[in-house]
Amino acid sequence: MAIAKAYAATSPSAPLAPFQIERREVGPHDVQIEVAYCGICHSDLHQVKDEWGGAKFPMVPGHEIVGRVTAVGAHVKNFKEGDLAGVGCMVDSCRTCPSCERDLEQFCEKGAAFTYNGTEMDRKTPTYGGYSSSLVVNEGFALKISPKLDLAAVAPLLCAGITTYSPLRHWKVKKGDKVGVVGLGGLGHMAVKLAAAMGAEVTMLSTSKSKEEDARKLGAHHFGLTSDEATFKRLAGHFDLIIDTISAPHDYNKYLGLLRVEGAMVLLGVPPEPTPVAAGSLIFGRRTLSGSLIGGIKETQEMLDFCAEHGIVSEIELIPVQQVNEAYERMLKNDVRYRFVLDMKTL
Ligand code: NAP
Ligand code: ZN
Ligand code: ZN
Repeated sequence: MAIAKAYAATSPSAPLAPFQIERREVGPHDVQIEVAYCGICHSDLHQVKDEWGGAKFPMVPGHEIVGRVTAVGAHVKNFKEGDLAGVGCMVDSCRTCPSCERDLEQFCEKGAAFTYNGTEMDRKTPTYGGYSSSLVVNEGFALKISPKLDLAAVAPLLCAGITTYSPLRHWKVKKGDKVGVVGLGGLGHMAVKLAAAMGAEVTMLSTSKSKEEDARKLGAHHFGLTSDEATFKRLAGHFDLIIDTISAPHDYNKYLGLLRVEGAMVLLGVPPEPTPVAAGSLIFGRRTLSGSLIGGIKETQEMLDFCAEHGIVSEIELIPVQQVNEAYERMLKNDVRYRFVLDMKTL
């Protein structure tokens, strides 16, 4: 066992504070990573505040992790000491169920081992995330990172990047498709960049007029202000695909009305409370309402390679780890442009 420094929450109401955790010895198939940067996802906030239920404390959040490999086990094939590596939302899965066999470890039928607020596959050992100095992970769940990109700005790709890339690929977005992205935060800004890089005609649908210029710089071709009812009239029946990243409860029916016949809306945001959907919102136009959870390991590597090829990274505000509580407050006030990343050197 090795001791790692970390930042943890000890209850839903306590601010995050310095903490120590134990990391396992490096096993034959493991890599040890010194964490350089860790992004702050809105899911970290939902879980620390126990908004989804089932939170386990002490909790060390963080699943947008990049760093350098400091040790490898005897049987590790794909990494060596000194390599860059990334870890996203999962650290293990059963590897044998039908979902795992289809490279959809996020839907592992035994339940994947999530990077924090979960357990390893033994269902006993708690997992602790990337707000920490180091972690040890099976090499099958470590990702290759291109040295071409700014490392701190790559961190958010490990969750915000894959979570938006996966539905764009699953719904086969191609050149000229009309894609609407709802909510310009961490996920939303990656959805805009990725959809634009795939050749889609992208419309940003936002509650914040002040983000219009940024949305266009990120690659959006159009902007719709969702606090203005006229936007819903103007864009009725317009989109092939809508990617909804809003973190708070909102009326899905209004957005479903923006889909063309047989268009699809994909929920990525996980508001703590449910919202009713009227059957008519789907029946008229044979529309689809769906959801998507991160992406499998193979697809995460594909996304990282796609980003390296297209020079895509996240827009970040790099902060010392001591400012994590302030960053959470700012995220709640919708004051993030467009992802906070913790500089783990400051730990
Ligand atoms: P974020 O950076 O806080 O962005 C959320 C955006 O939603 C805000 O920037 C804002 O955009 C909009 N918004 C916030 N509150 C709103 C409200 N009350 N009404 C309308 N719009 C509102 O969050 P994030 O990190 O992108 O995460 C977004 C959601 O996705 C969270 O619920 C998170 O847990 C979830 N998530 C899901 C997955 C998955 O696998 N499905 C993965 C990661 C995260 P505008 O200012 O443009 O309106
Ligand atoms: Zn996340
Ligand atoms: Zn499985």
